[in-house]
Parts: sequence; C-alpha cells; structure tokens
Amino acid sequence: MRTQFTQDQLADPALARSEKILRNCVHCGFCNATCPTYMLLGDELDSPRGRIYQIRDMLEQGGSPDPDTVTHIDRCLSCLGCMTTCPSGVDYMHLVDHARSHIASHHTRPKHIRALRKALRLLTDSEPLFRRAVGLGRLARPFAPILPAPLQRMLRVAGEGGIWPPAPPRGRFRADGQTRMRVILLSGCVQPALAPEINAATIRILNRFGVEVIVPESAGCCGALGHHLGEEEAGKSQAATNIAAWTASAVRHGPIDHIVTNISGCGSHIGDYGHLFSDDPAYADQASEIAARSIDIADLLASLPLRRGAAVQTSLRVAYHAPCSLQHGQRRKGVAESLLQEMGFTVLLPRESHVCCGAAGSYTLLQPELSDRLRTRKQDHLRALTPDLVATGNVGCQTHLADGLAVPGLHIVQLLDWASGGPRPPELANRC
Ligand code: SF4
Ligand code: SF4
Repeated sequence: MRTQFTQDQLADPALARSEKILRNCVHCGFCNATCPTYMLLGDELDSPRGRIYQIRDMLEQGGSPDPDTVTHIDRCLSCLGCMTTCPSGVDYMHLVDHARSHIASHHTRPKHIRALRKALRLLTDSEPLFRRAVGLGRLARPFAPILPAPLQRMLRVAGEGGIWPPAPPRGRFRADGQTRMRVILLSGCVQPALAPEINAATIRILNRFGVEVIVPESAGCCGALGHHLGEEEAGKSQAATNIAAWTASAVRHGPIDHIVTNISGCGSHIGDYGHLFSDDPAYADQASEIAARSIDIADLLASLPLRRGAAVQTSLRVAYHAPCSLQHGQRRKGVAESLLQEMGFTVLLPRESHVCCGAAGSYTLLQPELSDRLRTRKQDHLRALTPDLVATGNVGCQTHLADGLAVPGLHIVQLLDWASGGPRPPELANRC
C-alpha cells in the first residue's frame, strides 16, 4: 500500500512502525472473508482492508479523525481473524492499536460513551472494586427492567453467582510432592469476580501435578482493556505494576519458569509486553523477559503428565469454543481440544470455529447490537452439536456464550481439574 507520510511524521517511532505495517498490505482482500463485522454488515468500510485504508488516511492527515472512521474502527473486535488469514503477514493488531490511541487523543466522544469507557477502565483498575461492583450488580438485578439499556446490560454481564464473590486466592501455593516448576499465575481483574472457581481449579490442578503457584498480592489487571480502549498510558501503567510485582516475586521466591494465564485475552496482551515497552529503557528488558515466559494454561498442562482420576467417568459431549485471543492472537490451536480428549471428554467443534463470539473484552458493552448478533450466530452453531456443555479458555467468551444457551459454560481448567481428581463443577451435578 502506498503511503504519503512526511519526514516529520516518520520521526515519530509509532508512526514509522505503522507506516511499515501499511506498506506490507497489498490490498488483496483475503482478510475480508474471515472478518466478523464484514460477514455481518457486508460493508468494505467494516472490513480489515477497509479499516486499513481508513487508518492510513487518518494517520496521514493527523488531527481530529472523521467521525465515520471512528465508527468503523470502533466496530472492530480486535479478534485478529484477519491476521490469521493475511498471506502478507500484515500486523493489523499493532496498526489498530495505534489507530485507537490516536482516536483517544484526538477525538471527543459523546458524554455518555466517555463515561461508560471511563467506568470500564476504572473498574478493571481495581480487582476488589470490580468484585464489589459485580456484587451490587447482582443485588440490583430485580430492578433491571426499569433501568436504562446500558445499565441492564451491565447487570447481565455481572452474571448470576453469589452476591459477594469471595476474594481471590493470593500467596504461595506449594506443589503436592516434588516440585517440577514454579509459576506465577495472573489473577486477573474481571475473572475472580465473575468466575472465582477458575483460579481455584487452576491452582489445584497445577499443585497436584508438581507445580508451585505464586499469585502476588500487588499484581492486577494485565492492562489489555485500557489498551484496547486506546488509553495507552493507563494500560501501560497497569502492565508496569505487574512487571514490578512479578519481578519482586522472583527475587523473593526464586526463579520463575512461567507466567501462566488462564484468560487467553490477557495471555495475548502479556505476550506483547515486550513490544509495549520497546521504547522504554526502564522496562524494555524485563517486559521482554516476561513476555517470553508467558504461557497459556493449556500449553502448561500439556507439558505435565496429567492422569485421569480413578473415580471419574467423563464421556460428556463438550462443545469447545476456541477464543480468538488464543487461536488468532497467540496462534495456539488444538492444544485444549487434545487435552480434553485425552482426559476422556468427547470434543465437538462448531461450524465457523474461527469466527469471534462477540465478547471481545468490553465490546459486549460498547457495541451491544453487533455483539449480540455474533453471540446468536455462535450459539446456534454450538446448539447444533447437542453438547452437554460448552468449554472455552477465556472468561469473557465463557460468560457471554453461557447467557441464554441452556447448557453450562465452563473453563477447560475446571473440566481438566475434575477429570484428574479435583471436585466436580457444581454446574455438572445433574449431567453425569
Ligand atoms: S489479506 Fe493482508 S495484504 Fe490482503 S488486504 Fe488483508 S491485510 Fe492487506
Ligand atoms: S480484528 Fe477482527 S473485526 Fe477487526 S478487522 Fe480484523 S477480523 Fe475484522
């Protein structure tokens, strides 16, 4: 793709990087075929190729972007399906990140959207605050019908668990028997409130198979949500807090083999910490080291000698939903499916398994109509498999898909923990 940036513009390292990305695009349009928003809307401006043109024009012109351009970029899910399809290796992820950051600093959104975006970022800034907000949301559910639509939606996202989700486990969890390795677990910001059982199951199964798990007190949100909202500095500040907390843990407890995530969206973002801090000499080396040690829970479990628990008969039909952040972001395919199969589950894959479910972090709140259409499409494909349950590896997809599905939605680690000797997830009490 031809670009016309000035030399002054290219003196900015971020613009220079984006210009390189733009030049790689040969505008073949292969990516359009797998883009969820293009599939739904059929508009070139809502396709990856169309967005790349709009981003080029916006960055070349500088200043305040055209509101239509903002709309089309806001509709992008950052699912990265286009990157998997692109034969030219166009780094759309960093390009759209730059576009979002430019929009955040050069465009004023309507007041209510600004308030919603700010609330989302502030809530994820503090895990205890998010947990309390979820509790309040669950208390307020009976009043949902009289509340404005965005608030109703937030109450739906709060889910149906206990009114006050427990504080997540933090500290040092020693391996049962001999220690094979030591890992840090990202506790997360949203997951401990929406599905506290996931971290509990992760620690149990890792300890059972010889892995010491450390969950540092001062680590928090990975920063992905702020980053995807275009609030680059806020996201970086959260990432820097984690880097400091994890580095201090290694000093205190000894060498760390991996930073493990059971939220694939966070795993993708942590794997990009090196890029995020590439212009910051204070953090660049540590960030790259952490990114290199980042691993998804499925990959870590696949490296361990998992055994089926003697008392567990698992012949359940599991429809597996591969999160975009895992299959497109981290380019990990087939690992979770193989693990589930090895542990006795019958694994079923839905049609269009490469297409996003519409959860996409805050997308479900910021783009509710498109998010709902993608969920309905995905749920239809999942229902067609007549599964006993749906499993995935990202809490956002899990809660988004379970809403209205009529079968439980679980994280793969809950199934693997149960199958290897842990407690049965309560959701499966009447299903096996
Ligand atoms: S597939 Fe790649 S090269 Fe082709 S239009 Fe899309 S981003 Fe550009
Ligand atoms: S990231 Fe997903 S939604 Fe955005 S342009 Fe690429 S395929 Fe389309």
